[in-house]
Amino acid sequence: MSASSVQSPPKLASPVVTLNDGRAMPQVGLGVWRTPPAVTAEVVCTALEAGYRTIDTAAAYVNEAGVGEGVRASGAPRDAVFVITKLWNRDHGYDETLAAFDKSLERLGLGYLDLYMIHWPVPSQGRYIDSWRAMVRLQEEGRVGSIGVSNFMVEHLRRIIGETGAIPAVNQIELHPKFQQTDLRAFHAGQGIVTQSWSPLGQGQLLKHPEIARIAARHGKTPAQAVIRWHIDSGLAVIPKSVHAERIAENFEVFDFRLDAEDMAAVAALDDPTGRIGFDPLTFS
Ligand code: NAD
Repeated sequence: MSASSVQSPPKLASPVVTLNDGRAMPQVGLGVWRTPPAVTAEVVCTALEAGYRTIDTAAAYVNEAGVGEGVRASGAPRDAVFVITKLWNRDHGYDETLAAFDKSLERLGLGYLDLYMIHWPVPSQGRYIDSWRAMVRLQEEGRVGSIGVSNFMVEHLRRIIGETGAIPAVNQIELHPKFQQTDLRAFHAGQGIVTQSWSPLGQGQLLKHPEIARIAARHGKTPAQAVIRWHIDSGLAVIPKSVHAERIAENFEVFDFRLDAEDMAAVAALDDPTGRIGFDPLTFS
């Protein structure tokens, strides 16, 4: 890849969502969970060249250093890329969060961070309020642009908002056609919290579903593109993952079509309250 192709305006550009702190986040990004550290820099470069401007990592993914290396190697201006990382479960607590943030920032090597999230609430530890207070401080100090959470349920959100008055900019949650989280999304909408979908393709399992295939064929698109478009047309931020250049590009070629009311109704009918494929936020530690 060439640095100049990232420095010039991308041939494809994601819409942006405006966060409740006034900052803008590109709606479609790349997720790097289970992207091996050794290939992360190259994968991130490939995504930036394809036009991606949001990259989602986490301390627990053990590839923050590769993300930073990829952003730097791409030649993309730092302020053109929106980098997200997350506080891991064992680092909950006020001082622990401040220390974990420093380590993440050092591994990324990008000077500042765009969005720092609490990865899981871990209610059994009972420390997410302390972690959230530390996040608020990091934002006040200008060390991170935006602060958010991940895998928070309504009860956890009510608690941090009630006790600190600080509303997360984003809640990143498991969300795909088989698990649509409509109640939590309604709560987010009432609070001005952006919903960001993780495992948006159902970890690939959804792509063989006949209804998804039918919608994709109607639009002359692939099943992955149809599902990503469903997230966009639902007002969700979305971070599909791939390590393959052709799929990274495919997953970003989603800005030239729209699902219609019939498609949206067909996907709505796929929702299944038992459709969760990841961990349960109430019990995961
Ligand atoms: P995903 O739903 O994005 O699915 C990724 C898989 O789908 C790939 O590994 C591949 O098998 C397949 N795939 C991707 N593009 C394809 C294409 N064009 N054609 C065919 N198959 C394709 O799954 P994910 O990685 O679990 O989730 C995406 C991102 O969400 C993660 O990388 C991570 O950044 C984030 N995430 C966050 C949490 C959290 O707790 N906050 C949990 C899980 C994932």
